[in-house]
Amino acid sequence: MTQFYKVKWLRLIILSLSCLLLVLTVSLSQATEQKQLKVAVEPVFAPFEFKSATGELQGFDVDLIRAIGEAAGFTVEFQTIAFDGIIPALQAGTVDAAVGAMTITPERARAVSFSRPYFKAGLAIAVQTKNQNIRSLDDLQGKKIAVQIGTTGAETAKKIPNADVRTFNEAVLALQELRNGNVDAVINDAPTTLYALRTGNLSGIRITGDFLTEEYYGIPTPLNSQNLPLINQGLTTILNDGTYQKIYQKWFNTQPPPLPQSIPGIEQTTQPANSLQFLSVIFNALPVLLAGALVTLALASISAFLGLLGGSLLGIARLSSLSWLRWIARAYVDFFRGTPLLVQIFMIYFGIPALIQSLGIQFTFDRFIAAVVALSCNGAAYIAEIVRAGIQSIELGQSEAARSLGLNPVQTMRYLRSCTSFNKGLPKKEKSERKGVIKI
Ligand code: GLN
Repeated sequence: MTQFYKVKWLRLIILSLSCLLLVLTVSLSQATEQKQLKVAVEPVFAPFEFKSATGELQGFDVDLIRAIGEAAGFTVEFQTIAFDGIIPALQAGTVDAAVGAMTITPERARAVSFSRPYFKAGLAIAVQTKNQNIRSLDDLQGKKIAVQIGTTGAETAKKIPNADVRTFNEAVLALQELRNGNVDAVINDAPTTLYALRTGNLSGIRITGDFLTEEYYGIPTPLNSQNLPLINQGLTTILNDGTYQKIYQKWFNTQPPPLPQSIPGIEQTTQPANSLQFLSVIFNALPVLLAGALVTLALASISAFLGLLGGSLLGIARLSSLSWLRWIARAYVDFFRGTPLLVQIFMIYFGIPALIQSLGIQFTFDRFIAAVVALSCNGAAYIAEIVRAGIQSIELGQSEAARSLGLNPVQTMRYLRSCTSFNKGLPKKEKSERKGVIKI
């Protein structure tokens, strides 16, 4: 009996000790765990943020925020968010900060709280090398200009009288548009355009005239964020201890220019935006959204019609007795159904002109036509399969019956009705009796 109690006590002591150990380890790890900030980034703006060939996130901003974290005692968890979605994400509190070569502007400073400036930049106009007519903003009146959506470049372009401004999700796509000759100029941050010209295969493009603006980049955080003093403190530390210089030199091969503590004329709001201001954003966006909806409607109806025509022909080709025709149709269908639609649109809009131009032939694509071509080609592949399956769903017996009645293939297609459509409305029993009926 005593032996039994001894074992019981021993078990109890071991259990309590293990619990104590567990509690101690958890609280110790919490105490030593560093603060982690969720930082938004869109890695398509080299050399500030982009992905290496192996898919690794890199760039000036990436190195900078990591160094700031090291100096201020926090770690960084990156989250990919499109550039024009960064401010809404900060306002919603989904992320703690962002690095995106974001220019500190008065409008943005009303929506988010910026760190002290960390980079001096400016906008520049890029044109095709052979273009000698464009030297300044005034020369861009009535011209076609490509910009990245939601950027200071896009804002500047909007103010040019009669300009046809085309927006792209990424600056490199806007530059590609210029290379293809679809636009006359691109307005973009000079460091990015220069980097793209230096490293990319954007031959035939140059920067014209002087920089249009003087801009400073800042790290945006939600309004009145508690992390902002931490970020500013880290930034000041690395500016003073030489780390900033090292990072600058690594990406730009030159000494950094001096940076101001703050930007004169830009008031940083400390009050959150009121709900009415929020509503005005929606009202301002309505006309653009409606115009976009109309374009979508036009695109959908034209490409559905063309897709139906092409798809019907392809569907018949899929069942042809000529094996080479069957294989061509099959390859087409597999290609268009097996690759993402966005890739197809890019290949048609950017790829085809680049390919034709590399052969020395001048060729450009209208945006609307390119979209119609891509959507129709894609739709045709899907419709082809519907047509093929529809034809094949008709029993062989019915085609044989048609042939025995002397109908040729066209007549068979025209008059042979599937029992389902002919029997519509008949009671179930009668339907099955009538199976295989041909109506001529
Ligand atoms: N500096 C520009 C802006 O803030 C562009 C930044 C970007 O595209 N990442 O609007």
